[in-house]
Parts: sequence; structure tokens; C-alpha cells
Amino acid sequence: MSNKFGIAIHGGAGTILRSTMTPQLQEQYEQGLNNALNAGYSILEAGGSALDAVEAAVASLEDFPLFNAGKGAVFSNTGQHEMDAAIMNGKTLEAGAVCGISHVKNPVHVARAVMEHSGHVMLAGKGAEDFAKSQGMAMEDEDYFFTEQRYQQWQQAMKDDVVQLDHTDKKFGTVGAVALDQHGDLAASTSTGGLTNKKFGRIGDSPVIGAGTYANNNTCAISCTGVGELFIRSVVAYDISCLIDYKGLSLKDACDLVVKDKLVKIGGEGGLIAIDKDGNIEMSFNSDGMYRACKDSEGKCEVLIYG
Ligand code: ASP
Repeated sequence: MSNKFGIAIHGGAGTILRSTMTPQLQEQYEQGLNNALNAGYSILEAGGSALDAVEAAVASLEDFPLFNAGKGAVFSNTGQHEMDAAIMNGKTLEAGAVCGISHVKNPVHVARAVMEHSGHVMLAGKGAEDFAKSQGMAMEDEDYFFTEQRYQQWQQAMKDDVVQLDHTDKKFGTVGAVALDQHGDLAASTSTGGLTNKKFGRIGDSPVIGAGTYANNNTCAISCTGVGELFIRSVVAYDISCLIDYKGLSLKDACDLVVKDKLVKIGGEGGLIAIDKDGNIEMSFNSDGMYRACKDSEGKCEVLIYG
């Protein structure tokens, strides 16, 4: 039984520069990260499960309007919020995911319910929404998800006829959490609104187990953010787990190889957070910055934004 425990979270990677940030905005982002970090860490500290910790941290990030998940999710081409989320239990390799889901206040709670109560791994669209209702999940009307900033982004994207990664300046606002608990169990979760002005039911990597989200007690837990299509094609999260499992790489070496070499070669901008079975934490990205934070039982505590 491992006693070391810890959590890492992210609020998206991309072109995040000091020059375009105001002190007030930076403070708000740091507050949002701190709240989520502590929501997850307090569960781990009390002896709770990694699964509960990542769910609580992601739900907190979903409720924070500056990140592209839950409240504050980007607009799709039809003016809706079509959200994706996943959660995975590293102990049992059970996983749950929803994609293209609307009206649900916290997609991460639905993903967990899919894992535990649906008999399936992934539910989509209207069916996922009906399932959420059947599970008594909190639902909201479209107004709840509206934020002026996202609306303006969508209007601009429609005018330019482009599909955008969160912001025109290539900032990915997806959120995620990974954790190791006192029992030695790992878990990962990711939640996103996807791309501004996305069409035709486009789904990214976040809810795809092995691409944007993965956890396995034998190796590590991973949550990604970035250009979803390239993260799916690179099977990023599972690739890192496999590099540790099959080749004996350290978490750091596996993350460096995938994020700073393999992804870069195919234009896969973004990053990820990872924690391994020994409690090592990596927050790796190939973009200018990534909203990220981590805290562990050995006193490590970081809240960072820039590269
Ligand atoms: N990976 C997400 C997606 O492609 C986008 C993001 O990270 O913001 O849906």
C-alpha cells in the first residue's frame, strides 16, 4: 500500500502569454485552479478515492466559467453547447464517457454514472442526456452555459467560417484531473466543450479512452488537452502508459517523448497532466502555456500558467 498521494489538474493549454494577460484575469484563473485543486486534494487527504478526487476537481473546473467545460463551454455551429467528458478508474480499468451532451450541469458526473450504472462505456447526444435525466443529474437550460466571451468567439468564428480551438489565439480550455490516492489507486478525468463552431457532431479526444483520458494502476493516469484530432490519432494517453509498461520508461521520459517529440512531429499542439503509481507528477506541454496545478502529500504545491 502506497501512502504517498497527490493530484494534478489542468484548465487547457495553448498560446497563453503574459503579454495578453491582465493581473485581474490571472488572479481569477489562479483562483479557479486553486479551488479545484483543493476540492480534489481534501478528498485524498481524508483517505478518499482517486476517483472521487478527480471527479470533484473536474466538477469544480466545470463550474468555473473561464474554462471551456460545463459553464463557459464554447458554442457549436448550431449555437449550442455540446460537451464531452470521461472518467477512468485505474484500479479496475472501468471507464465512462459522454459525448455531444447538452443541458447537463456537470458532464463529469454523468460520465461517472455511465461507468457505474449504464453497462456501457460511452453514451452520445440525446441518449446520453436521457440517461443523465434518468440518473437524476442536475440539468440546466442553454442560458446557464452562456458566457459573453464564448458568444463573441462563436460569432467571429462563424463570420470567418472556421472551426476554432477555444480561442482565436489557439488556447485550449479543456479541463482535467489525475490523482493517486492513499490506497495506491489511480484515476483520470477530462471534460470539454470541444471546439468553437464545431460541426456535424464533431467529438474530440477528451472522452475517448486511451486518447485524451486513461488510467491504469500498473502505470499512470493521464488527462490531455490540445488538438483533439491529433491526440486521437496518436492515442496519446495510452501511448504514455504503454511506454512505461512495455519499455520501462519513467513517467517523465514517456511524457517528453510523446508531447515534445511524437506530437510535435505531426503538429499536435497541446499538453497533458500525468501522475504515476509512485506519485510522480508531470505537467507537460508543447504550447506556450498550460493552466495547471498540482499538490502532493510530500509538500509539493504549484499553480502555474506560463511555459
Ligand atoms: N482536446 C479538446 C478537443 O479537441 C480541445 C481542448 O483541449 O481544448 O475537443
